[in-house]
Amino acid sequence: MAQLILSHVDHVLDKMNEELVDQFDNNPRTHLGASSIGDECDRKIWSGFHWVGGKKFDANGIKATEDGKHSEIVMATRLKLVKNIQLQITEPSGKQLHFKAGHFGGSLDGVILGAGYEKKKMHVWEHKCCNVEKFNKLHKLKMEVGEFEALEKWDIVYFAQAQTYMHKFNIEHHYLTVSTPGTRSEQSCVTNYNPDAGEYYGEKRPRDIIKADRAPSRISMDPAWYKCKFCGFHENCHGSKLPDVNCRTCIHSTPETEGQWTCALHHTQLDEETQRMGCAAHLFNPSIVPGQQLDAGEGWVDYKTPDGKVIRNTGAQVIDK
Ligand code: SF4
Ligand code: SF4
Repeated sequence: MAQLILSHVDHVLDKMNEELVDQFDNNPRTHLGASSIGDECDRKIWSGFHWVGGKKFDANGIKATEDGKHSEIVMATRLKLVKNIQLQITEPSGKQLHFKAGHFGGSLDGVILGAGYEKKKMHVWEHKCCNVEKFNKLHKLKMEVGEFEALEKWDIVYFAQAQTYMHKFNIEHHYLTVSTPGTRSEQSCVTNYNPDAGEYYGEKRPRDIIKADRAPSRISMDPAWYKCKFCGFHENCHGSKLPDVNCRTCIHSTPETEGQWTCALHHTQLDEETQRMGCAAHLFNPSIVPGQQLDAGEGWVDYKTPDGKVIRNTGAQVIDK
């Protein structure tokens, strides 16, 4: 493949990319999203829900995300050109179609009638934008394993999201459109509802992860394993990066079943702003501190770090001992 030559330095574009990163809203979402419930690693899903921190988006990641959003709008507009297709992307109030069940939630790209193989049945509609290699892989899989099985083999995270939406919206079919960047080429893939997968991704897995009061085990202890290597929490799990300070990383917080967060120390319910700030009594949940717990007392915990240092976590800070 021809390589792009990018040797010319342009300070305007460098500055633009810096601003893009600086102005990007890196605040994690408040709920556990259906778009992440299929990730292979329980700990990664838990860490995202608990605002552990992790790596922030760089300019390329932000551009890919923006490209995905633009592509979805373009695809919706183009689908609406087709006669006899009914595509609904919002509720009558103008809000995005979504579900919320306690802390678990998700927003649909839309629902569509007249697409797929069951033209008279409603389908969940989702759109994904991916690179050419991944795009071609889906096409190949549809040939090899059949269209209905292809999504699960192609991308388990998208498959879990599709099953979750079908489960939550009580819809039996899923119509995925996929495009290359710029929405120049497109293909579709139909997936049917699988009750076991719907129950697992739509109910059991989020329930288990939300109620876990400790971070689940690492999926691998090998920092070089490819899933960990490219994971945003790599430095937390396999390095010495401390989690961010906020209520969700604090040992005193609990996600309640109705979707609220409470603090067992101050006996209060925590709104989003309070959760993001934490307080001076913050104490890390020991399961996310990179180190071995040595001792603990009222308001403090001592750890031995992987490089042999002894540190004390107390009063929303970590100090060397
Ligand atoms: S670094 Fe590995 S173990 Fe840690 S959250 Fe990511 S995938 Fe899971
Ligand atoms: S002790 Fe402070 S940081 Fe911890 S959950 Fe309560 S309010 Fe949040």
